Amino acid sequence: APTVMWFRDDLRLADNPALTDAAMQGPVICLYVHDPAFALGAAERWWLHDALTALDHDLRARGGQLCIMEGSAQAVVQWLAQQAGATAVVWNRRYGGPARQVDTDIKTALKVMGIDARSHPGNMLHEPWQVRTRQGTPFRVYTPWWRAVQAMEAPLPPMSVPASLTFASLPPAVGEQQLAPSALRLLPTRPDWAQGLRDTWQPGEQAGQARLDSFVAKRMAGYARQRDLPARPATSALSPYLRFGHVSPRQVWHAVAAEKEMDEDGACFLSEVGWRDFAHATLFEFPEMATRSLRSEYDRMPWRNDPAALQAWQQGRTGYPIVDAGMRELWHTGWMHNRVRMIVASFLTKHLLLDWRAGERWFADTLVDADGASNPFNWQWVAGCGLDAAPYFRIFNPVLQGEKFDPAGDYVRRWVPEIAHLTGRDLHTPWKMAPRGYPAPIVDLTAGRMRALAAWQTLQDA
Ligand code: FAD
Repeated sequence: APTVMWFRDDLRLADNPALTDAAMQGPVICLYVHDPAFALGAAERWWLHDALTALDHDLRARGGQLCIMEGSAQAVVQWLAQQAGATAVVWNRRYGGPARQVDTDIKTALKVMGIDARSHPGNMLHEPWQVRTRQGTPFRVYTPWWRAVQAMEAPLPPMSVPASLTFASLPPAVGEQQLAPSALRLLPTRPDWAQGLRDTWQPGEQAGQARLDSFVAKRMAGYARQRDLPARPATSALSPYLRFGHVSPRQVWHAVAAEKEMDEDGACFLSEVGWRDFAHATLFEFPEMATRSLRSEYDRMPWRNDPAALQAWQQGRTGYPIVDAGMRELWHTGWMHNRVRMIVASFLTKHLLLDWRAGERWFADTLVDADGASNPFNWQWVAGCGLDAAPYFRIFNPVLQGEKFDPAGDYVRRWVPEIAHLTGRDLHTPWKMAPRGYPAPIVDLTAGRMRALAAWQTLQDA
């Protein structure tokens, strides 16, 4: 009897503990369920289409296929397991509140049907509950958490693709219901805004592994010094591959650790990968993080309602070059450099005094790496309302940030061609030259800053 391998955010064959478990039991049915209850952003949908196509391709190369279905995950998994006469359904764990609830419900329902359900640790360096303070409580601050991780045994070495992988044929009733990726209507049609994404990315496990290998071999040297410079290709751009599980964090860890003596660049890079685990661990402990400020006094923050300002920010027309460059990079490629994410998030929540959730939603819709843990976690970090957050009163000045991190202006010139002719400091203060076709600043930096501090002060006074 077959085992059902239920793929979710782990679209890879190597280092996939659930798949390895399934393969050891005998023939496998590989399932992906597109559940409308779990809405994805537009850029993620684009990625998912190609990611499913790539996984199906990789499975076919081994004599199998990916069975793609649409509907309530619980209903589909139970139905398929029953139709196939499966003895077990296996998966790798998820950590968000609603997803965990679904998984718990399915486990219970399958057990009632006499079908085994087994979950595995496949998507993190360590499971959230494995990293605890001496008192056994969850960490709230990153640095001691990371120290605790480093004091633990190294994450398990990655597994290879199971050698014994064989496939069960689909029962006819299931075969009739299975869909091609295109039937999920994940791709944009009119307008087709995805050209920039197609030019930038190749979803799938093979592309992700190639990117990991080339980053570690060629580009990791210099990471610590250059990772804050958005004009340089200094970071790995592995985030969407980690988001969809084409690459596992354990593969990343061991690729870096195997390279050579752990130097400053490798250590700095791994500590960034650590933030991803920490964001998921925080979501696991505090599921409300997805939608609510973790510091509850921020419930009283007098966020403004200003649709025109929000739209100017979304479209990269704020009049501040580094902000606009970032928002346009995001729109064009589905990705934005981390330093610039921090600058645009600070600008939205402070100079514009708009609710971090408005920014989080826009990122969720436009990022190919949009992640239900890392996205709200980082928004709350910048907005000051997270547990281990930068203080709200630390307000990035976008002109100084631009001068510091894009000193030659190459990043701004790439994304804001209207002002590409400006040189030196003028590039980050274009209003002094009143260039044609580029908007004047939508907010005065000093006034915006004072307004933000006054709003924050109301939380302290109450
Ligand atoms: P690298 O510098 O090469 O880092 C390697 C990996 O470490 C990344 O791929 C990522 O998986 C992880 N990582 C690095 N920094 C962080 C971080 N601060 N938090 C969590 N993981 C991190 N990252 C996402 O993956 N998804 C998101 O939805 C997301 N939203 C963000 C929103 C805001 C407002 C901010 C400030 C940051 C956000 N980040 C998010 C974190 C970070 O910006 C991206 O992970 C990073 O820019 C991805 O580029 P990279 O792969 O080249 O990173």
